[in-house]
Amino acid sequence: MQETTISKSNFEECMKCTICTAYCPVVPVNPLYPGPKQAGPDGERLRLKNGFFFDENLKYCMNCKRCEVSCPSGVHIADLIHSARLRYSKHKPNLRDRILAETDFMGKVARPLAPVVNTMVSMKPVKAVMDSVMGISKNCDFPKYTFHGFIGWFNKNAKAKQAEFKNQLAYFHGCSTEYQHPEVGIAFVKVANALGYGVNLMDERCCGVAKVSNLLKDRAVKIAKRNVGVLGEQVELGRPIVATATTCTFTIRDEYPGILGVDISKIRESVTLAEKFFYELIDSGKAELVFRKDFKARVAYHTPCHMEKLGWQIFTKRLMGLIPGLEFIPLDSNCCGIAGTYGFKKENRRASEAIGKPLFDNIKRVDPDYVTTECDTCKWQIEMCTGYKVVNPIIILADALDLEATARLNSK
Ligand code: SF4
Ligand code: SF4
Repeated sequence: MQETTISKSNFEECMKCTICTAYCPVVPVNPLYPGPKQAGPDGERLRLKNGFFFDENLKYCMNCKRCEVSCPSGVHIADLIHSARLRYSKHKPNLRDRILAETDFMGKVARPLAPVVNTMVSMKPVKAVMDSVMGISKNCDFPKYTFHGFIGWFNKNAKAKQAEFKNQLAYFHGCSTEYQHPEVGIAFVKVANALGYGVNLMDERCCGVAKVSNLLKDRAVKIAKRNVGVLGEQVELGRPIVATATTCTFTIRDEYPGILGVDISKIRESVTLAEKFFYELIDSGKAELVFRKDFKARVAYHTPCHMEKLGWQIFTKRLMGLIPGLEFIPLDSNCCGIAGTYGFKKENRRASEAIGKPLFDNIKRVDPDYVTTECDTCKWQIEMCTGYKVVNPIIILADALDLEATARLNSK
């Protein structure tokens, strides 16, 4: 009997209502996908009898978790699907899958050559070759690598003074903050410091979500165990672990135990998201904010699917609601269709754009100054499909605050 990778399989609680199928964004756009009920609890019954019943079309599941959010019985549908893929799939990760999954390795290789790499991958002939030879869609724009990363900025500009703060936290910045969007980490450090918190970085690795979806299970488990160890050291020091990306947060809290079978019981309750952490500090009276008087913006908010699964979007809405001068417009709930590396794959691109279309149309109808979301891959998809600029909510907060006045208030 093969070893199972799922920690608690509750497929027997399915009452066959098919609500999950109605909420799955892939079902209406891809007739090859059996849908969450059939791929999840129904399929699991058969697979447990004989792995022969595994269907390779389960690869079309984006792991967005919308089925789980909708299920009245709390069935871990997407966990069942992805555990089955890791357990039974005959597909061997190819070069394309490895390039998309090894975010740290690719970031380290691309970083010193960032201007060249960024130019190359945006050229039409290069995109055409990547499309035909590797299966990376030519309709995608690759996010730009930065020559100077977040950790370099932190070591040069912020590290020395962090010990002076009366409170301490550990920051899980994630790979996109280091390799593509250091501005997110810089904004986070500025806000945390203004609220009286020193920031500590860890020797973290990419959370591993892309390795799960690209079937690099052994690599994902190894990295998950390593991250749990590194995060555990911070928790023992009494520091909360705060992240700025929803998918990193969700993966560590729920995918490590649910799909990879990695025990996170000692750290789970300490892992949180920046918007929740900051809002709770303010709401409990432990910190105060002073805003600029001249800040003004009209911003549309896209809730990432993994944020819906966490159920923490209320904290972003309340935090942004504190900002005078910000017209904050939550958009209707819709998947953007990128799902990490899923939408970059040639075979998924048409479905990815079709899934995201209602969201893109809504953004164009609202016509905001810019869009905000906590997920960088949602950001990439929205920017390439709408042309609107997308920023992390923590950047808006840092921009709207009078950081010096806030820091003076919270140092008393
Ligand atoms: S929503 Fe839940 S209970 Fe209903 S069919 Fe799907 S898995 Fe079963
Ligand atoms: S995780 Fe998303 S794509 Fe996969 S079955 Fe559930 S709703 Fe559909």
